[in-house]
Amino acid sequence: MTTTGTAVDYSATVRALDAARSVTILCHIQPDADTLGSGLALAQVLDRRGVPVRVSFAEPAELSTGLRTLPGSRFLVPPAEVPTAVDVLVTVDCGSAGRLGLLADRLAGATTTVVIDHHRSNTRFGSINLIDPDAVSTASVLTALLDSWGEPIDAEIAHCLFAGLATDSGSFRWVTPGTHALAERLLATGIDGGAITRTLMDTHPFAWLRMLSTVLASARLEPAAHGGTGLVAAFVLATDLAGVRQEEAESVVDIVRATAEAGIAAVFKEARPMDARRRWTVSLRSKDSGPGTDDGADVAAVATGLGGGGHRYAAGYTTYGDPEEILAQLRTALG
Ligand code: MN
Repeated sequence: MTTTGTAVDYSATVRALDAARSVTILCHIQPDADTLGSGLALAQVLDRRGVPVRVSFAEPAELSTGLRTLPGSRFLVPPAEVPTAVDVLVTVDCGSAGRLGLLADRLAGATTTVVIDHHRSNTRFGSINLIDPDAVSTASVLTALLDSWGEPIDAEIAHCLFAGLATDSGSFRWVTPGTHALAERLLATGIDGGAITRTLMDTHPFAWLRMLSTVLASARLEPAAHGGTGLVAAFVLATDLAGVRQEEAESVVDIVRATAEAGIAAVFKEARPMDARRRWTVSLRSKDSGPGTDDGADVAAVATGLGGGGHRYAAGYTTYGDPEEILAQLRTALG
């Protein structure tokens, strides 16, 4: 991954936020630390400026234990409390309107819609689109926006931004020039970076170990997939998730993608509760064959073709069927 130095224009977003009478910030469904951290960081800035602000996401009803520790959660409201007509509506870390879930209908009732994101596959569904596909995280885009706006970053805002940066960079494994400089700047506010990452990424219930042992034992390696790039796939069945949270299911792909023999990793996670047609959310990861090769498969293209989206090296989609069917569907899409 390299920085191409795309010029990003922050002025339209700054003008919209400056003129806002109130701001509604929407995070994507199944929020992660990047969408929520970005949303809560922006909410704190707006509140400091005296602008009424609320933050919401469509589902699930409850935040994970780790995400509940982010500063600014006082601005969170349940989706039912987001009016149908709002002034400025800002979405953070959403590549498409569909990522808003049931709150997507609020876009139509907003005076101005601002889309702040870093997904290359972003569909530019706002009236203002602040998208930097070279940014490691939406938190990085937000930091640049705050700089452009002249808004300082205090420790509580830095905590939220660091959470997004650390999570989306995979604990600083997927980085670009500037990633560590940004981390250093946020850490200099006095936040405890170690505690933030441990809380968000390295804390799991004991049942997580049992879930991993079952799921990893089911992993399959298909060396011929995608013209010999190789695919490693694992299935997280709804029954495997007893005693663990959705975020534990999200951790599986980080282990599976380490497989040396496969350039592409897929983890199929069965939705709970189980419905008649088995529903799965699928996480795809790809990697280059070596340093500087830049030859990793574009899984965003694959996911987009299957109704999802994401980044070149990390993407996802939703599908239905039995394990054999959905694996065959992916094999076909990979070509
Ligand atoms: Mn993100």
